[in-house]
Amino acid sequence: MKVAIMGAGLSGLTCAIMLERNGIKPVIFEKRRCVGDRFINSEAFLSILTRPVADPIQYFSDKYQLYLKPVSPITSLHLFSNKSKTVIEQPVGFINIRGRHRQSFEMQLAEQTSSNIHFHSKHTYEQLANEYSHVILATGDAEYAIRMNNYQESVSVTLKGATVKGHFDRYSVYIWLDHDLAPKGYSYLLPFSEKEANIVTAYPDWRKESNEEMNDRWLRFYERIRSHLNQSLKITDQFQITNYKIGICKQPRIGNTLFTGNCFGSIMPFLGFGQFDAILTGIYAAYDLIGYGSYHELTKPLRKSYQDSLALRRGMELLDNHHLDFIVRNFDRSIVQKLVKPSHLNPLSVLSQVIKPFVKQ
Ligand SMILES: Cc1cc2nc3c(=O)[nH]c(=O)nc-3n(C[C@H](O)[C@H](O)[C@H](O)COP(=O)(O)OP(=O)(O)OC[C@H]3O[C@@H](n4cnc5c(N)ncnc54)[C@H](O)[C@@H]3O)c2cc1C
Repeated sequence: MKVAIMGAGLSGLTCAIMLERNGIKPVIFEKRRCVGDRFINSEAFLSILTRPVADPIQYFSDKYQLYLKPVSPITSLHLFSNKSKTVIEQPVGFINIRGRHRQSFEMQLAEQTSSNIHFHSKHTYEQLANEYSHVILATGDAEYAIRMNNYQESVSVTLKGATVKGHFDRYSVYIWLDHDLAPKGYSYLLPFSEKEANIVTAYPDWRKESNEEMNDRWLRFYERIRSHLNQSLKITDQFQITNYKIGICKQPRIGNTLFTGNCFGSIMPFLGFGQFDAILTGIYAAYDLIGYGSYHELTKPLRKSYQDSLALRRGMELLDNHHLDFIVRNFDRSIVQKLVKPSHLNPLSVLSQVIKPFVKQ
């Protein structure tokens, strides 16, 4: 068996690690000049989104001997709407780093890999499919799935973010649910050290927005954060991604091509979290090639949580700022608060069953 992995990101590297452990040495093709060669940003695991797995770091380590070090656990979550605020004080997940940072998840995975990585790769999928018996598509986007008519898009998103300098509690995350800042989306601040944090606003491209409108929105968000934190928050780096596709492949495996990570549909439409499922698809794709189970069957629960997450997204799109104020103001008494509490319930699934009859997916 000759396996090519296209993309040295979360799912591609995880797949390589699992294959190597089982005697298959894949070749990885990465278009950039090194692993993690992109802007540095902090990302998160939120346990409310990975349940029944409450602690993804422990889960990967105990179940798959895949070791990942986050930068910190999240022990308080500050939730703001346009006019209300609440704080959730309990362990809710982890913050980790991505990109060009020595502690980024992709760097940590690369250290656990011994497969050859061809950087600056210009190989196309077609070339790899010709030369190798199996191809793992792990490019972090939907390009090839779309070309192969194997992709169903649910929503496309604009993300605008920056790295800021300031004084942060590394264990606290801030989230703004406010349509003035992110229409039908959300904005957040995730610290990755006591001195640096990422601020990001993410919202669906539900209507075309001019650059001027986008910048005005961004400035409103930046001002809001500065006033909530009472800090000047100097910007040291910035990024903008438009038309970031959230969707799912129709078939996880076509012939000997397996779609992993975002090529599979690992990003959840509700809040755009994709790391957990990206890593799982890397593991499952390797398991299929090793003969531990079919990729199609192994990924069925991920498809189900994608559909649940999509129902939540459609539900979220029906809410306006008054609803969000109400939810945040009454958070302590609400069903959402009960669902956030640690349990073996999968809150996403429970909520989506309630919402599904009222939304079009
Ligand atoms: C700004 C932002 C914030 C996010 N925040 C969160 C978060 O907080 N929590 C969360 O869970 N998820 C988050 N996500 C989503 C998460 O990052 C992705 O779901 C996850 O990284 C997908 O993993 P992957 O393996 O599919 O792709 P990646 O990890 O992105 O890896 C893809 C790799 O393929 C390479 N590549 C691309 N094209 C080619 C090609 N043609 N040939 C060879 N190599 C190629 C790329 O250079 C890259 O190295 C965020 C995404 C963004 C953009």
